[in-house]
Parts: sequence; C-alpha cells; structure tokens
Amino acid sequence: MNLVIIGAQWGDEGKGKIVDYLAEDADTVIRFSGGANAGHTIVHNDITYKLHLVPSGIIYPEKTVYMGTAMVIDLESLFNELDTLEKQGIEWKGRLFISDRAHIVFPSYKQKDIEMEKTRRNPIGTTGRGIGVAYALKSYREGIRIGDIFDKAIYNILRPDEKEYVDKYKDLLEKMVVNLADIMAKEKNKRKLFEGAQGALLDPDIGTYPYVSSGSSSAVGACTGGAIGPLDIDRILGVFKAYNTRVGNGPFPTEFNNETEGELENTIRETGREYGVTTGRPRRIGYLDLVALKYVCAMNSINSLVLTHIDIYDDMKDLKACVAYNINGKETTSFPTSITSLENAKPVFKTFKGWGKKIGDVKEYSHLPAETKNYIEFIEKFTGVSVDIISVGYQRNATMVRKNIWTR
Ligand code: GDP
Repeated sequence: MNLVIIGAQWGDEGKGKIVDYLAEDADTVIRFSGGANAGHTIVHNDITYKLHLVPSGIIYPEKTVYMGTAMVIDLESLFNELDTLEKQGIEWKGRLFISDRAHIVFPSYKQKDIEMEKTRRNPIGTTGRGIGVAYALKSYREGIRIGDIFDKAIYNILRPDEKEYVDKYKDLLEKMVVNLADIMAKEKNKRKLFEGAQGALLDPDIGTYPYVSSGSSSAVGACTGGAIGPLDIDRILGVFKAYNTRVGNGPFPTEFNNETEGELENTIRETGREYGVTTGRPRRIGYLDLVALKYVCAMNSINSLVLTHIDIYDDMKDLKACVAYNINGKETTSFPTSITSLENAKPVFKTFKGWGKKIGDVKEYSHLPAETKNYIEFIEKFTGVSVDIISVGYQRNATMVRKNIWTR
C-alpha cells in the first residue's frame, strides 16, 4: 500500500505534521525529493523537532525511513540534523537509509548558487543552499551520486576538496546507503508513505516557473524519487492550508494588501507561526486560492485533500476564498502559464461567514460549527475532491480523519 503526500500550494502547508500523524500506521516513510531548503516542524509530547532533510517518520522509534533517489543531500547538514535529533532522544542509526542514486550537494555549490542568483534575469529568492546547482549539475550529467563515492573509478575523479568532504562521512554512509529499487520491490506489501517536499506550485514543470524550486514536488516525483512505478500508487493526498502562503519572489494573486489587510496578515502570521523553518523569513500570506488548488488537484490526481490551519480563522467574522481570476477584464478559472498574467490576475472572492469560536479541541467532523463545514464543503465542491483529513492545531492529536485513507 503506497500513499503519496504532497503540498498542494507553495509549500509549508503542514505536511510534516500530517506525515508524522499518518506514520503511526505506516511501516516506512520515504522522502522522495528536495534538499535541505525544505523545513518541517513536528511537535510531539511538547518537544519541537525541526527537520530539513530527514523524513518525518523518524520521530517514531520503530519506523524505518528512507531518503529517496530524487533528493539532493548536503552531507554536513544531514549529519548536523541527525546530531540535533540524537540530542533530542531520537535514535536514527540502523533505521535511516539513503538511496544510492541520491545526489550530493558539495560545499562549493552554495557559493555558485549565490553567484548565479546575482546574474539571473529573474532573481527568484533562492535560499542559497546549493540545491538548484545540484539539480542543474544532475541534469548536466556532472553530478555525483552518493553511491558513486564507493565506486573507485568515480571516487578517483573527484576534485581534492570533494574527496576531503566525502571522506569525512564515508564510514557512516557506508552503513546507510542502499539500492532503494531493490528494497521497494521487496517491501511491496508494506504500508509506505511517500513524503514530498515544498508544494506542487513550486514544481519546475507544473509550478509558477521560474519562481519554483528545482526538485520535483508533484505526485509523479514519488515514483522516480521513491523507486515505485506509477500504477503502484494507491492514494495521493494533497495538503493545503485554509489560506495561502509563499516564501520568496513570484506571483501570488490572493496576497494580502498591506494597507487594507495588514492587521489580518499580522494576526495570521503570529497565530500560524508563518516564518520559514529553514530561513526564518516571514512568509507572504493571502486568502485561499481555489483556482490554483483545483489546478493542483487535477495535475496530481489528488484523491484526498488534507486541510490544515483552519483553526487560524477561529476569531474572524468572515473569510474569503478566491473562486476565479480577473485577468485584463476577463474572468477565468483557468490557472495561467504566463507569469505576467498571474501577476495581473485580480482575485474574484467569495465571502464566507466565520464561526467565531475555538475549534482546536473538536475531535469529530460532525461537531464542527456549521460555518466551518460550509467552508470545507464549498472547497470540496469547487475542487471535486473530498477533504478527508482536517487539522485544527499543530499537535498530533488535533487531527480529524473522515475516512480510512489506507485504502485504494
Ligand atoms: P511543511 O513544510 O508543509 O511541513 O510545513 P511547516 O512545518 O513549515 O509548517 C507548518 C507549521 O504549522 C508548523 O509549525 C506546524 O506545527 C504547524 N501546523 C501544522 N498543522 C497545523 C494546524 O492545523 N494548525 C496550526 N495552528 N498549526 C499547524
């Protein structure tokens, strides 16, 4: 049984919490793409775990986790992250494995990343961690895969600084590097969770190019990155927040206008803790964009939506969601390819009545206020996809599951 979990917006949707929640019923968690620019926050028993590279299932002591083929791995960051987890009581040795096909991010890539950003036609606001450079070199067939460092012929052509870098970690890596394809073939009948990084709108092919990330963050990435075939996927979950956020540059049609919605923006930023886990940058915030969400559902065959952060709207009198764009005087529900069109898109909003009470303790969908259910049911009708999980707080137990998602 293979469940794929992707972000259905521009990342930071709360995937970490959802993967952590679902991992309880899984045998393994496989993070399929991305690098140390991603960031998940998991809160369990009042301990906050910050993850960048390590799959979210690591918090459960008995689960095996894999770092997938389409990941690009900064070894120094990985072992620093593992040190921190170890200090927090997480034992990872013997249960964290890495695909031998994943690529290495060498320290020199970070400098290159910053230099490239300076001469870009469109500065994209990169985190400067060398991720884009690693993916570029991979496509250029100049990258180095983790398994390659154990191949004498390839090791010998590494540059001296690269040799020095991998030598520091080689002994530890030897016990961690695996052929993921063989393992996935053997574990066909296990319950597996494939965890994406960032969000589908940051995918280089279907996202808001060029303001995207360089790794695949759409559902198809789970196949190449997780070493399974497309027909082996049993369910695709798209995680989205009750509003939208975005980090860095790029079009964002529903973004709050600081003059008119500045107060609301600050409230959401503080209650929703909308600051980047990796960079600490305040995230840009806006109303829920249903045009974009519907597009993402269609492009990824999402068959279960997971709504998070709905509790952030608890104190609001009313709330809005974007149901169409007005582009140069024409109304459309088609998600445009052109960045200029998306930048010029004026959101057409539908207003919903707020519920005006705390919903953080609600455990069952039927006990949610009618106004909350009305908002959720509108989203389902608009996208054509059922909202099967609802998260009403950052804790693991602040989660409502409406149907068994471990079924096809
Ligand atoms: P990810 O990258 O998609 O995993 O998202 P992040 O970890 O960056 O962002 C999610 C943040 O929101 C974390 O601090 C979570 O603990 C928190 N969070 C997740 N779900 C909810 C929710 O339903 N309500 C609230 N208030 N916080 C949530």
